[in-house]
Amino acid sequence: MDSKIYKTGFNFLSLYLEKKYGIRTFQISGAEDAWFPHIKRIIINKDLQWRDRLLALIHESGHVQIDYNFTGYKFKSVNQDNINAEKIKSKKQFITVLNEELMAWNFGKNLAHELNITFDVRRLEEMTTKCLMSYVKSGLKGVYGKKIDIEVIDPGL
Ligand SMILES: [Zn+2]
Repeated sequence: MDSKIYKTGFNFLSLYLEKKYGIRTFQISGAEDAWFPHIKRIIINKDLQWRDRLLALIHESGHVQIDYNFTGYKFKSVNQDNINAEKIKSKKQFITVLNEELMAWNFGKNLAHELNITFDVRRLEEMTTKCLMSYVKSGLKGVYGKKIDIEVIDPGL
């Protein structure tokens, strides 16, 4: 029943991103959700139900806003969502990634509200938590190694 609303929201948001930034959204089966600034493309996993496809696009739209609206923000060739434990090496990089991910969720959510797009708020909070916790886990592994003792964490740089 709700899937039609979410599909409409998805199409509206992808049209908005195309009109405002010239960004095209592609839905590909089996693909990981991603934002590629250098080719102005967003990829969304087509296998997800419309509720989650919309939330994934909302998140990627947050990354778009960060990359386009913040002057001086480092332009990246690949989105942060592909970062894994092996790539996160320093605490500073870890926190930069966490900050950007949280910003992307919040900017995306605000844009969806501004555009009056109906989405599942509770589900978005769940996905935000899951996303951040997974970055916390892989980031800690990257910084401290596979077996970490919490007491070993030194909050300072
Ligand atoms: Zn992200």
